[in-house]
Amino acid sequence: MSDAQGSVSFLLVDDLEENLLSLEALLRRDGLTCLKARSGDEALELLLVHDVALALLDVQMPGMDGFQLAEFMRGNERAGHIPIIFLTAGAADAQRHFRGYEAGAVDFIQKPIEPDILRSKAGVFFDLYRQRQQIQIQRDELKAYASTLRTIDRHKNEFIAMLGHELRNPVMAFSAGLRLLERPDAQDKADEIRGQMRTQVFNLSRLIEDLLDISRIGQGKISLRKERVDLIAVIKSAVETSQSHIDAAKHSLAVAAPSGPIWLDADPTRIVQVVSNLLTNAAKYTPTGGKVELSVHPASEFVEIVVSDNGIGIPEEMHARIFDIFTQVPGHGSRSQDGLGVGLALVKQLVEMHGGAISVESHGAGSGSRFRVRLPLAD
Ligand code: ADP
Repeated sequence: MSDAQGSVSFLLVDDLEENLLSLEALLRRDGLTCLKARSGDEALELLLVHDVALALLDVQMPGMDGFQLAEFMRGNERAGHIPIIFLTAGAADAQRHFRGYEAGAVDFIQKPIEPDILRSKAGVFFDLYRQRQQIQIQRDELKAYASTLRTIDRHKNEFIAMLGHELRNPVMAFSAGLRLLERPDAQDKADEIRGQMRTQVFNLSRLIEDLLDISRIGQGKISLRKERVDLIAVIKSAVETSQSHIDAAKHSLAVAAPSGPIWLDADPTRIVQVVSNLLTNAAKYTPTGGKVELSVHPASEFVEIVVSDNGIGIPEEMHARIFDIFTQVPGHGSRSQDGLGVGLALVKQLVEMHGGAISVESHGAGSGSRFRVRLPLAD
């Protein structure tokens, strides 16, 4: 990796300061960082902490010479594959002294140095280094992508298992209901049985619609039919939609909203869906005879819709995940009835498609839950 962001480092090793300075001046370019060492030892120290694209080694140095330094580098895991250009003043046969060719690229440049040759040879190594970095980044991205796909695949398998399980319940209820209706003494109970079957059909079709909506949103196929709508009328309609669930659980529902119109630029059907989903959940996750409240708070640029209950609550650690698809709070299983953890994911996506936001507050088991939806007001 390069040291500074986007910058590629190279190492110059020469015992003479003036040589270091002139080499640096020759190779200086934007995006390149020059590291200078006056001895083999100093070079090895630098290589311990820096990754470099190329090392230019003067062969003749007092103490450890360029070849010895190169042998050390080749024996070192970090520095073993760094391309080396030797700067030699002597005859060409001096090249035979170095035996580390097989471990990485090696080249020789005779002194006096021809600037163009040095620049173009060094340039090749810098380009190779950048390409390798690029490949490394792409490999990391591919790894992350593969891991995401594996997670998605696991979720999909879990979901299929859960869906199969959830669909079996209403189907079993239907077949039991049909069997009962076929019995000669069914007349007395026929209305009750049909009522139960209707509830199952309602839950099942809501689930199927939610799943289809989620999949359409995922494919970008849902478009909002936005119009100028009065939120108060929308809230009324959402309350009507959820009233049967609230009544069935003998909850009380208190609605506090301003009387005047609150104008939104929104798809009314989708906002009804959002609010009724929250009300139905409040009814579902609150023990019989509970309190459900809905209030509307307009501000200067947005309006807040708050749905709260005094039900079983949501543990703090689940707040961040509750809007993820297929997430259900462990232990809420028996109350979730025909739920699959799809409703809130859909609600969040619909709210966000309207430029709004949703959040949850709850102080844990038994302390109720409060959902806040913020929607922008019409201009
Ligand atoms: P589900 O169909 O399971 O109800 P949702 O996506 O609507 O799916 O909700 C996800 C989970 O969030 C539920 O399974 C439940 O555990 C929890 N939850 C949602 N609303 C409430 C609430 N008002 N009180 C307590 N828990 C809730």
